[in-house]
Amino acid sequence: MGLKYKTALLKLSGEALRSEEDIYSKDLLENVAKQIIELSTQGARLGIVVGGGNIWRGKLASTLELPQINADYMGMMATVMNGLALEATLQRLDYKKVIVYSALEIRTVTKSYSFKEARNKLDEGYILIFTGGTGYAHFTTDTGATIRAIEIGADVLLMAKNGVAGVYDSDPKINPHAKMIEHISYLEMTKKNLQVMDQTAVTLARDGKMKIEVFDMQGENNIVKVMNGKLNSTIIE
Ligand code: UDP
Repeated sequence: MGLKYKTALLKLSGEALRSEEDIYSKDLLENVAKQIIELSTQGARLGIVVGGGNIWRGKLASTLELPQINADYMGMMATVMNGLALEATLQRLDYKKVIVYSALEIRTVTKSYSFKEARNKLDEGYILIFTGGTGYAHFTTDTGATIRAIEIGADVLLMAKNGVAGVYDSDPKINPHAKMIEHISYLEMTKKNLQVMDQTAVTLARDGKMKIEVFDMQGENNIVKVMNGKLNSTIIE
């Protein structure tokens, strides 16, 4: 069996890259990078969006009495750091065809985003890392990922979770009897206000007809497995 999807936008949370004591774990960075390289070798066309939660979240603003807007831009900067960390790891593992785009203007180390260029570069076999989220405060990287998925014409938005296998009918961390759902509509997701991803992103995915697959990236080679249809997950469509 081959790849389930040809073109995918993979959304990783910042937490996926951190260890208990540090903002980055070399092992986790390497593990993600190796899976990305394997998928690319299998012929997948990949865009990647990384969150910033391992470094900074806008929500932290209130305790420090920082204005929300400043804190959100700091969060977007954190996603740029994560993109650069992933790029450098891919390159160290000898994968050189990688481009980091940023929705914020950071010209010395990232490229300004253009959907036309991004599509061309995907055709040329580049792995694209989209940083800076949407480039606007009051949004999340889930929303940024949905926008990029639509713009690059991805077949799917892969939402990688850490220790959660998919969408549940209630919060599995609170309710031990929570049941995992294999298939759910965008409308049900918003009606039930299920928190597995940002509701703005779900609404946008519905409008853009972007299929979402929510899966647990914790587990050996789970990113490769989900792309090859070998993992239990939840489809939102
Ligand atoms: N952020 C933002 N606009 C965006 C994307 C992100 O303002 O389009 C900020 C926001 O403060 C958020 C932080 O960046 O808390 C980190 O992103 P996110 O929480 O989505 O990262 P994740 O939880 O996926 O690691």
